[in-house]
Amino acid sequence: MSTLTTAAYLVSSVLFILSLRGLSHPSTARRGNFLGILGMTIAIVTTLSNPGVLSYKEIGIAFLIGGLIGTSIAVKIQMTALPQLVAAFHSLVGLAAVFVAASAYYNPSAFNIGAVGSIPMGSLIEMSIGTAIGAVTFTGSIIAFGKLQGFVSGNPLVFKGQHFINLLLGLGIIALIVKFCIDQNQELFWLIVFASFVIGVLLIVPIGGADMPVIVSMLNSYSGWAAAGIGFTLSNNLLIITGALVGSSGAILSYIMCKGMNRSFLNVLLGGFGGEQAASAGGVKDDRQAKQGNAADAAFMMKNSKTIIIVPGYGMAVAQAQHALREMGDLLKAAGAEVRYAIHPVAGRMPGHMNVLLAEANVPYDEVLELDEINRDFSETDVAFVIGANDVTNPAAKTDKTSAIYGMPILDVENAGQVFFVKRGMASGYAGVQNELFFRDNTLMLFGDAKKVCEDIIKGLEN
Ligand code: NDP
Repeated sequence: MSTLTTAAYLVSSVLFILSLRGLSHPSTARRGNFLGILGMTIAIVTTLSNPGVLSYKEIGIAFLIGGLIGTSIAVKIQMTALPQLVAAFHSLVGLAAVFVAASAYYNPSAFNIGAVGSIPMGSLIEMSIGTAIGAVTFTGSIIAFGKLQGFVSGNPLVFKGQHFINLLLGLGIIALIVKFCIDQNQELFWLIVFASFVIGVLLIVPIGGADMPVIVSMLNSYSGWAAAGIGFTLSNNLLIITGALVGSSGAILSYIMCKGMNRSFLNVLLGGFGGEQAASAGGVKDDRQAKQGNAADAAFMMKNSKTIIIVPGYGMAVAQAQHALREMGDLLKAAGAEVRYAIHPVAGRMPGHMNVLLAEANVPYDEVLELDEINRDFSETDVAFVIGANDVTNPAAKTDKTSAIYGMPILDVENAGQVFFVKRGMASGYAGVQNELFFRDNTLMLFGDAKKVCEDIIKGLEN
């Protein structure tokens, strides 16, 4: 690698690190995104100008096909479908790692790693570990995609001896890798791929209900390590650094989300320990009547309130209600109320989902608070306005040991003087668990599309 290439890769790596730093807060996220794009542009141009590139024809065709598919997906994709799209993209990174390892195995001289049958031990270790991680990422991400898209049931699939089988498979893959590094046998290579495909499925099927967010960020981490594996095979330092950045930032995010969800990181990593418990919980039918209000009632009560906490959830994203919601908040502030927003770590369908939407609607950052920062304040708050959120407020997480969400910290909206739930009907949330708060004395249901309800409340506030 020439000095110029190394220097350009170094600049890209620094830009990627600055990009990640920028993406850690909504106020700096745009800059972070820009730095990431700049780093990637430098990386691509540098790689393409490498004298090792023999022909631009195939690269150009692949670039065109991939670019067209990527652009058309990006134009069409709904914000609410991003998590499954991310999962689908992770699967491609995993598959790429398997393909690169396979081509290195069958044509080692093209990768400067010796000849068939005499690949150096170091390269064999990198290749086989990269293959295993890539294959796990591939099938795991496909199952995650299916669950998030609704193609596969979101309920945890658990069966007797599952953890034992996972353990056996895990040990089996390690043994296969050791044997492959000694024998360089092609059957062993494909056995590693096959066993890793199977364990990828087995690790994700028992994850259900509210734990999917952790899995999405964990697969993000796996895809990073798979990319780093490709980097080793291709002897590309930038790919190793970038893969390690994605791998470690994904792992840190998974850890933070596990903490937020009160889950054990190791348990999630090893494939849904505790899944049996979650599997036994289902959506409970409830014939009780919930009290129903309308937008005019809500407008009147909130106009006369001093403190209001808004709790946004997935339904706000579905309805794209964030702009109307901000407008409603502005009017309430103008009427003298203190308005703040409470964000649960897994509200919506991807990490930071609510923050992004509220930032898009120009909600001031200092009004947007995390669960830890605001949860105690509900007991001194006149109104909790829950808009399209459900699981993140559900007290079953504290009281019902058989519930899929048991153990997850929740926003204690029930402690507010008055609770409004804006949703279209009595349906449960993502985890499929009935929310007992709908039937409480201090709850009023505001049925309707979240955006429409906000617009009606705005009309009520303006009168
Ligand atoms: P929930 O999925 O618990 O609830 C959303 C509610 O929004 C539903 O009950 C639905 O009720 C209502 N809703 C849907 N569309 C509309 C609409 N147009 N207008 C008004 N209401 C609407 O969302 P939460 O945000 O509370 O919780 C997130 C859940 O998703 C958690 O279980 C979390 O674990 C999981 N998850 C989170 C991810 C993340 O990274 N954040 C990723 C994957 C899963 P109705 O149909 O009656 O209107």
